[in-house]
Amino acid sequence: MALLIVDDEASNRDVLSRRFRRQGFEVTLAEDGIQALASIRGQTPDLVLLDARMPGMSGIEVLREIRLCHSPTQLPVIMVTAEGQSASVVEALQMGANDYITKPVDMPVALARIRTLLSQKALSAALRESEERYARAARGANDGLWDWDLEKGEIYLSPRWKEMLGYQDGEIGHRPDEWLCRVHPEDFPRWQAAVARHCRRETPQLECEARVHCKDGTYRWMLSRGLAVWNESGEAIRIAGSQTDITAAKVADPLTGLPNRLLFMDRLERRIELSYRRPAGEFAVLLLGVDRFKNVNDSLGHLAGDLLLQALARRLREGLRAADTVARLQEDCGIARLAGDEFAVLLDEIRQACDCVPVAERIGAAIRAPFVLQGQEVFVTASIGIAVGSNGYERAEDLMRDADTALHCAKAAGRARYEIFDTNMRRRAITRLQVETDLRRALERDELRLHYQPIVNLGTGAIAGFEALVRWQHPLRGLLPPSEFIPIAEETGLIVPLGHWVLEQACRDTQRWLETAPESAPLPAAGALTLHLNFSPVQLAELSAVDEIERILRRCWPGNRGFLLSFEVTESTMMRNSDTVAMLLARLRDMHIGLDIDDFGTGYSSLSQLQHLPVQTLKIDRAFVSRIGLDADSLEIIRTIVALAHNLGMDVIAEGVETAQQLAQLKTLGCEFAQGYYFGKPTDWETAWSLINAEDRSQKIEVRRQKSEVRRQKSEDRSQKTEVSPATGGAGLNVDVTSQDHRFRQ
Ligand code: C2E
Ligand code: MG
Ligand code: MG
Repeated sequence: MALLIVDDEASNRDVLSRRFRRQGFEVTLAEDGIQALASIRGQTPDLVLLDARMPGMSGIEVLREIRLCHSPTQLPVIMVTAEGQSASVVEALQMGANDYITKPVDMPVALARIRTLLSQKALSAALRESEERYARAARGANDGLWDWDLEKGEIYLSPRWKEMLGYQDGEIGHRPDEWLCRVHPEDFPRWQAAVARHCRRETPQLECEARVHCKDGTYRWMLSRGLAVWNESGEAIRIAGSQTDITAAKVADPLTGLPNRLLFMDRLERRIELSYRRPAGEFAVLLLGVDRFKNVNDSLGHLAGDLLLQALARRLREGLRAADTVARLQEDCGIARLAGDEFAVLLDEIRQACDCVPVAERIGAAIRAPFVLQGQEVFVTASIGIAVGSNGYERAEDLMRDADTALHCAKAAGRARYEIFDTNMRRRAITRLQVETDLRRALERDELRLHYQPIVNLGTGAIAGFEALVRWQHPLRGLLPPSEFIPIAEETGLIVPLGHWVLEQACRDTQRWLETAPESAPLPAAGALTLHLNFSPVQLAELSAVDEIERILRRCWPGNRGFLLSFEVTESTMMRNSDTVAMLLARLRDMHIGLDIDDFGTGYSSLSQLQHLPVQTLKIDRAFVSRIGLDADSLEIIRTIVALAHNLGMDVIAEGVETAQQLAQLKTLGCEFAQGYYFGKPTDWETAWSLINAEDRSQKIEVRRQKSEVRRQKSEDRSQKTEVSPATGGAGLNVDVTSQDHRFRQ
């Protein structure tokens, strides 16, 4: 440590310098004020021992000069005074002397004082250095600083802190309110709680995100971090830290870099406000959902899914004008990954509502072009819902809700298309909601009914089985067909409990029939009758679905007393190409449950896949059967399907047979089975199943069938006048199935 000893008497200088050198100090000597100041200027010592009384420049004068350049913490000065000079001691202390000792110098006292001052100096230097380092780091990070004296109720906010909010240094004062009043009212309780928790030492540091009001009227997201200082009784007396602007991170989607929902909603709100101030110009929101995005994730993995979303974001951005906003709407839900396949576009300046149509078409086309993900070509489509700003919206959420309703309609109408919102859609959405609520109750109140339609073996004329078809006995609307509620049940997931109910009811009905069948009725030979049940893709989405099916069958299925079960699924379900579906189908096969592809010919099948799936039967859709005799194409399609099925070792059931001509043609084409109004409409189980009981009355049946054919002809004649399509069932064959034999004459 370097010590400067200033004394006019040589003997004093001599004694002191020897003693201090012995204690390990580096000592420099000065015999008057001029020399002392020159020495300090040359090489500043760590401490000065300054004689108060000297000829020429007095000690006090020298001290005054020192303090012009060095603060007491930077350069401590100890005055050396003679006894009885208390007035000059007081004056020196007031002028910035750190301490004093009296002559003759008591070495232990002098050493203790010097060491205390030097250690204080070292501490404050370290503190200053760390504060400077922190300030430099904060400046480098572009952060603002704050220091809140909780005892005085004053706050220091750095110029950068103020600048971050758009203010000059002098525009914000020292009251804590300057900050508190600017925190967004929605964030304030959270912010306040975070500060209080840290002050109670419940958190190791303060860390809180909140929106802060800026000079230009906007809010910016700020992250405040800080540390408190506590007094001996544990009360927080001071809390200081930094402020970081995190607005950009808060409003961007990390995967695609697009604005997120937060920013999108903010821009939409501003656009709505603007439309009231400056009504010229139209705007619209396009809500875009990637069709069956889950399939990409399921079959190619999440990484491919992410790559697809990124590529899609690029295409969207490239295809729009700079003024338009494209956002990805995934909400940060904190827990599970959401599919996040929804994007929103704010078309800012369009002339009129219909201008969004070409934009929607362009976006649709851009997405249809193949994406190459990890070397593999992937094709996707998108459904788009559009809501136009001119409908007098006041809130962004309302506009988004309507765009969402339109998106729903686009999906329901077959996907890969756009729909523009109109008020009818909302009405339909409300009806749908009503149906959903009612349907939940229907399951609880046992309002569902199961009807059965016979399936006939065209070779023998015998009943080969039944298709079970669900209906809803609505307390107000009467008996509702599945088209009124199955799509909603699928959308809402209610199809799962509904499907279980159907399976259980079919089991119960089979059991009842076995119990009540008259002695005379022969039990069908094993496998002679098949019960066909419809299964929706939603029901087979998870592997656990089979567990429940197995449980129900074990509980209710009356065993293999002549009946087989077959599940009907659509082509899209089978072709989903997911491991889950393959495993599911294999388990069903192991349980001896057959598999039919329903409505075959209306979907999209991969022939190579068809070959590998455990399918027994193709059901030709009614659309083709009903056109037999009306166009040549349908007949050709049926011929092809029959040939295909036979080549793959499958059977064919023709659906919706209504006329003798259709039946004759199907037989000629080699179709084995058929169902349709020609044979019988779906009816309750007693009616339908009594068909099998009446083995010996086939003659009567033929007579009745002929009679009803005559009735049908007449009603068809009538309906031609009123233009009722036979396909609607309005002029369908009214067969009295109660007395029918299970053998049909052809
Ligand atoms: P699907 O499986 O193709 O059933 C055949 C549909 O055609 C039935 O309509 C049936 O009543 C009707 N149909 C049969 N023969 C004729 C005919 O000659 N002429 C006309 N015009 N129609 C005929 P339904 O009962 O209205 O069922 C419609 C669809 O609802 C079914 O089509 C099936 O996809 C679905 N569905 C019915 N029950 C269930 C069920 O329990 N679960 C599931 N997931 N879907 C079901
Ligand atoms: Mg079916
Ligand atoms: Mg069908």
